[in-house]
Amino acid sequence: MADNLQPFWQRKRLSEMNAGEWESLCDGCAKCCLQKLHDEDDPEETVYYTELACDLLDLGTCRCSDYTNRHARVPSCVWLTLDDLDEFHWLPATCAYRRLAEGRDLPDWHPLVTGRADSTREAGYAVTGRARHVASLDEADWPEHIAEWPLEESP
Ligand code: SF4
Ligand code: SF4
Repeated sequence: MADNLQPFWQRKRLSEMNAGEWESLCDGCAKCCLQKLHDEDDPEETVYYTELACDLLDLGTCRCSDYTNRHARVPSCVWLTLDDLDEFHWLPATCAYRRLAEGRDLPDWHPLVTGRADSTREAGYAVTGRARHVASLDEADWPEHIAEWPLEESP
């Protein structure tokens, strides 16, 4: 009985969630819309985040400006599914999908916890104010824009 009082993300495994629940887990931080780099010779396959965001990202709201067509327009756009569960370790430590996959709970600033869509940005865990669009930069210059903040932990 008490279990039914728990929110769905505490009651259900990721594999048990319906499409709406799965989608609602995204906190809207937009860190997965940042360009990422890795060294092909690195056996650890370390992922380096940059401060460079996809050009379709609205840097103010952290929303995709063409969400419906995002995968057609940006082939590298991430589409998280259960099939990728083993690979969620490359996601930011704050990402709800990674947190739940690792057996952690959602943070207290997550919109599902606060009931407010803007709470991720308000808590400082979104890319707003820290990212810039990638369009004007040559890919060879991306390494100069590697950033630590996208990988910051959160309580
Ligand atoms: S990193 Fe995770 S929580 Fe943040 S926008 Fe991407 S999928 Fe959503
Ligand atoms: S297409 Fe949209 S959702 Fe995909 S990376 Fe770009 S801004 Fe993010």
